[in-house]
Amino acid sequence: MERCTICKGRLQANVCSRCGADLTILLTIEQQTNNQLNNAIIQLSKGNLQQAKLAIKNSLQLKREPLAVALYDFINSSINCKLQ
Ligand SMILES: [Zn+2]
Repeated sequence: MERCTICKGRLQANVCSRCGADLTILLTIEQQTNNQLNNAIIQLSKGNLQQAKLAIKNSLQLKREPLAVALYDFINSSINCKLQ
């Protein structure tokens, strides 16, 4: 998150210097979302499809990012290919 979700001011800390909004919780959720997404990519690169799917599901529960949605579909199709 580079801009405040309230006033769109440029963010340099957890508290917006322009409107004073405390975005700590939002920034924490965004960090956790990215961590889960990164973990999914790492698990995918190791061939651990089930762990990758779990991580991407955790990521999607926090925030519905287009990249995570695409990765979720990719992991599911990879799992289906492996089963056939
Ligand atoms: Zn603001």
